[in-house]
Amino acid sequence: MGIRKIMTVKEPCLHKVCRPVEKFDKKLHKLLDDMKETLVDANGVGLAAPQVGILRRVVVVDTGEEILELVNPELLETSGEQVGSEGCLSVPGKYGIVKRPNYAKVRAYDRDGNEFEVEGEELMARCFCHELDHLDGIVYTEIMERYLTDEELNEEA
Ligand code: ZN
Repeated sequence: MGIRKIMTVKEPCLHKVCRPVEKFDKKLHKLLDDMKETLVDANGVGLAAPQVGILRRVVVVDTGEEILELVNPELLETSGEQVGSEGCLSVPGKYGIVKRPNYAKVRAYDRDGNEFEVEGEELMARCFCHELDHLDGIVYTEIMERYLTDEELNEEA
């Protein structure tokens, strides 16, 4: 187990398309364990492997009840729309206004290679879309409408 260093948006690894996981082996399990520990330590909602410098399609998401492990996730379905503030562990201290679907259904594999589907609304849909974007090298700052102003930040705090 170990907490990994979270890369910031300046690092090239945040801007590359990640490769699918092919082997569901001990190395993957260690990566998932470390990512979960790193997410909890950083108080985040989601973390994608490229944020810790690994260019593989792996994501962890804290649903509030458990930490989901999504390997090779794919968006199956989205609907609706939400416009709201969004942050990223790789963009510390900032928040932006981002338009996302209000509902998202994702197909993924667990750490042993078993396929499953998961769906979410509102924050979870936003989080799935945000994390899956990371796997294609997209950071929310590239698709946001604008950053929140200091005044708006103070209101949220
Ligand atoms: Zn992020």
